[in-house]
Amino acid sequence: MQHFPIFLSLSGERVVVAGGGAAALAKLRLLMKTEARLVVHAPDPAPEIETWARDARLTLYRRALVAGDVAGARLVYAASEDAAEDARVSAIARAEGALVNIVDNLADSQFLTPAIVDRDPVTIAIGTEGAAPVLARALKAELEARLPVRLGPLARIGKAFRKVAEALPMGRARRDFWQAYYFGTGPRAFDAGGEEGTRDALDALLNAHLARAQRPGSVAFVGAGPGDPELLTLKARRALDAADVVIHDRLISPEILELARREATLIDMGKQGFGPSAAQSDINALLVEHATTGAQVVRLKSGDSTVFGRLDEEIEAVEAAGIAWHIVPGITSASAAVAAIGQSLTRRGRNASVRFLTGHDTRGFADHDWRSLARPGEVAAIYMGKTSARFFQGRLLMHGADPATPVTLVENASRADQRILATTLADLPGALTDAALTGPALTLFGLAPRAAAHLIRHDHDLIQELA
Ligand code: SAH
Repeated sequence: MQHFPIFLSLSGERVVVAGGGAAALAKLRLLMKTEARLVVHAPDPAPEIETWARDARLTLYRRALVAGDVAGARLVYAASEDAAEDARVSAIARAEGALVNIVDNLADSQFLTPAIVDRDPVTIAIGTEGAAPVLARALKAELEARLPVRLGPLARIGKAFRKVAEALPMGRARRDFWQAYYFGTGPRAFDAGGEEGTRDALDALLNAHLARAQRPGSVAFVGAGPGDPELLTLKARRALDAADVVIHDRLISPEILELARREATLIDMGKQGFGPSAAQSDINALLVEHATTGAQVVRLKSGDSTVFGRLDEEIEAVEAAGIAWHIVPGITSASAAVAAIGQSLTRRGRNASVRFLTGHDTRGFADHDWRSLARPGEVAAIYMGKTSARFFQGRLLMHGADPATPVTLVENASRADQRILATTLADLPGALTDAALTGPALTLFGLAPRAAAHLIRHDHDLIQELA
């Protein structure tokens, strides 16, 4: 970078333009947007310059610039469009300590004037070091088109309001307020009611945000359902819409995270940095930390947060810190899985109870009441059951279960990539190896997909009959 871009304050500073033709006019038009004291030296000035001089917008000397004219000036433009004359002016300027620009002579200039997109107080300067003026012009045109003209007044109104907005606590609360102003309330109010309307809207917005900032923090434990965003509850949507912070698991689909309030901070507790699965104590600490600063925290868990979600540990941590909390139930993956195969979890005359089991607990493969589960007609929804499938099979067969008992695995239930693997207790381990499921899968013990002609299956369903 040969030229370093800066924004120079010209308030009350003297800027001298030597020349009275087209080049001088072009520079003067730009310079008149500033608060500089403009001085023009031109033996033969263009009529516009005469007019501006009469209107006291600049001081005009109808003679060439001479030594002594530039002392104390900040910038000098040599704009006579005559190389020898410009060189003479430039030498004087340098000698008298002003920065000089020779119009259309980059090599001998000390500074250059960029292409400017003016949405005062927002100003964009585009420079190409003289390499590609065409490119600079194209960029300028593109930005001019992209940036609405109201950006200037919006920023000006915002700037005047900065002191008042300091009533909001520094950091997130203030950032959220400005974000809402510039990308929502501001443009809307400006289009509807101009500058006046915008100022009123800004007052109202601040009051709303002050009320928000004074609310105590809280934690909502929200079930995100099995993955399909349409299986979110309205309450879950509303909680996401109001969240300041969303702390979520690895299994939460991106489509659901999309629904979080735009300003919300998303924290993935399944990402690196926290390791493949974050320590429970870290999650607890994070919940408390954010809610303590006043944030509305959504703890987003897959399915229903009350099912194999270590919910109690988090509630206890939040409770111990004296933070308000509540639970928003979600659709558990067992419900989504059984829906995918067109069955119901209970059935008159078959099973009057259904079990939700986990494949493993903190001590390894989980032990259960195998004897009662092995009886005919029993149904169980087994979570985290892929790696423990062989263990389950062994225990159940040992306790007298029928090897022909249907077992169905539903991988990625309710998602576009849902797969259904129908097998039997006898064939379960082999079928699992063959199918090589990689996503989360729910094992439905005692249920086979219904052989129904009218069940509309998901487009991507793949039924593998491996019995
Ligand atoms: N609270 C969750 C369960 C968390 S335990 C719920 O209510 O669903 C994680 C296990 O849930 C996974 O190992 C898998 O067995 C199951 N699971 C979660 N999402 C699933 C999905 N979309 N399809 C199938 N099983 C899923």
